[in-house]
Order: sequence, then structure tokens, then C-alpha cells
Amino acid sequence: MNYSVVIPFHNEQENVVELYRTLKEVMEEVCDAFEFIFVDDGSEDDTYRLLSEIADNDRRVTLVRLRRNFGKTEALAAGFEEATGEFVIVMDGDLQHDPHLIPQFIKKLELGYDVVCGCRVARPGDSLLLKRIPSRIANWLMARLTGVELHDFVGGFKAYRTSLIRQIPLYGELQRFIPVLAATFGARIAEFPIEIAPRKHGRSHYGFRRAIPFLFDIVTIPLLLRFATRPMHFFGTIGFGAMGLGMVSALWLVIEFFRGVGVMSEHGPLLFFSTILLLAGLLLISLGFLGELNVRHHYLAAQAPRDSEPLRVKRKKGQ
Ligand code: UDP
Ligand code: MG
Repeated sequence: MNYSVVIPFHNEQENVVELYRTLKEVMEEVCDAFEFIFVDDGSEDDTYRLLSEIADNDRRVTLVRLRRNFGKTEALAAGFEEATGEFVIVMDGDLQHDPHLIPQFIKKLELGYDVVCGCRVARPGDSLLLKRIPSRIANWLMARLTGVELHDFVGGFKAYRTSLIRQIPLYGELQRFIPVLAATFGARIAEFPIEIAPRKHGRSHYGFRRAIPFLFDIVTIPLLLRFATRPMHFFGTIGFGAMGLGMVSALWLVIEFFRGVGVMSEHGPLLFFSTILLLAGLLLISLGFLGELNVRHHYLAAQAPRDSEPLRVKRKKGQ
């Protein structure tokens, strides 16, 4: 088995059959060993029935059904678990991704890349203000913050080496960050421009409402990747910075005090500001320390003795 095509579906009843037909045609042409992993992410419409009919008639199809709607990341993670191919190709189940582009992904994979990203150039039908501009900003931010030079992190048409994708922990909304996570594993990443078709049937799951939590992820994930094993470097830097500033201004206030200036009445705001800086710095450094304890705990937990272990004194006979 060489290629596993993994597709998440949530309420895509109008798209399922047509997608399967085209996909099958394309895959039969480009390679002889492939499988389809279709994941039904708790659809409430006819998606599951249609998918199971397909799976009944085609042995190359594996169907995974999630008990409820878990979201795209969980659906993909479930699909990756079932994949037996050397590579997985991931695409959306709404006909926005044209299966005819798959050979281009395969070509890149054959060149030795571990991750191949389809970078959306034309997006007819996607609203400029609600989808294209926010996604431009998000992509630009992600590239700056992570140092991974991609033009489109968000788009869902991608291909991965299966052994690599298995190493990457997937939860929450992490599917958008797979290339970034892969980069931390030293993956070789390629991208090429693709065109996205407008959605003909069904409704998009990702409107503006989802864009706001995504903004948090854009900030959190790069920080997490950089500082997960050394939290003090993050908290400590800001903390020491704040404390340093606080100390300088506090020192100046002390000098003023000894020069007979009424610090409370003359420099009230500065006094207030220095106190806050000193306290905030102390808190940040303490947070960093707690973070370091957490990391230490994580790495040492396996070897640690139990708290309740009774003290045993061994004595040899005759002593
Ligand atoms: N999807 C899913 N579970 C969800 C949301 C989406 O499996 O909770 C699937 C959906 O069926 C589609 C793909 O993820 O195949 C992309 O979703 P959508 O087309 O709504 O996103 P957009 O293209 O609008 O960003
Ligand atoms: Mg779509």
C-alpha cells in the first residue's frame, strides 16, 4: 500500500458520491496501491449512509464513524490511525479540493519531501473580508512567529509521510498547525499553488466566529513550540525586564526620598507604576519557576520514587 487518502466528512451528503467517483478515477490512473479512509465526523444527514454504501462495494475504502461531531482535527487523527500507506493525502470532503491535483502532490512526495502543502491562490466564492483577509493575516503571522516559510498554513489539501504524522500529537484545532509541528521534527516541507473551487453544496464550517479562537492559537502554538521545555526563558525574560525597570525607578524614588522630596505626593504615579512592575516581575519569574518544575516533573516522573514508599533499612545477618 503506498497512498492513503484521508477525508473528513461532516454533513456533506451532496458531495460524497461525486467526490468518491472522481477520486477513484484519479487514483486508479496514478498508482496501483492506494486506500481511502473516510471519516464521518458525526454527520446528522445522509453522509454516513452514503459512505457505508461505498465502503460495502469497494474493499479499498475504510470507513471510520465518530460517535458525535468532534471537529476536523479529531476526525483527521482518527483517519491517520487507520492509514496503512507510506504516505497520507488529506483533502476536504466538500469538492473544494480537486482530486486531479493529487498527482502533483505525489510528484513532490516522490522527490523526498515529508510534507507537501497545497497553497491556495485562487479562492473564488470565499468572502474577501470574512475569509481571505483574515487568513492572509493569519498566514503571515504564522510564518513570522514560527519561522516556517509557507504561504498557506490553513488550507486543508496536504500530503504527509505517515510515520511523521503519527509522531505529531493532534488535539483541539491543531490540524492547521501540522506543517509547523512537522517542522519541529525536522520535516522537509514543500508547497505549490493550487486553485480552490467554490463550495457548491452544504455549508462552510469555518466562518468568522471560528477565526477569533484561531487567533489565540496563532500566538499560543509558536510559543508552546519554542518554550514548552524551557518556560523560564519566556517568563523569566519578561519578568526580569519588568523587575529591572521597577528597580531602577524605585531606586530613583529612594534617592528622591533622601533628598527630602515627598515621594507620595510628588511622584505618586511613578511609585504606583514601580510597585506594579516589581510585583509583576516577581509573579512572572515565579510562574516561570512553576513551569520549570512542571517540565522537570514531566521528564523525571517515570524515575521518581513514590512519596509513600516506606523507609527500608536492610541489615545483613550477624551485624
Ligand atoms: N469537517 C469535519 N468536521 C467538522 C467540520 C468540518 O469533518 O466539524 C470537514 C468538512 O466536512 C469538510 C472539511 O472538514 O470536508 C472542511 O470543512 P469546510 O469545507 O466547512 O471548511 P472551509 O473549506 O469552509 O474552510
Ligand atoms: Mg470547504
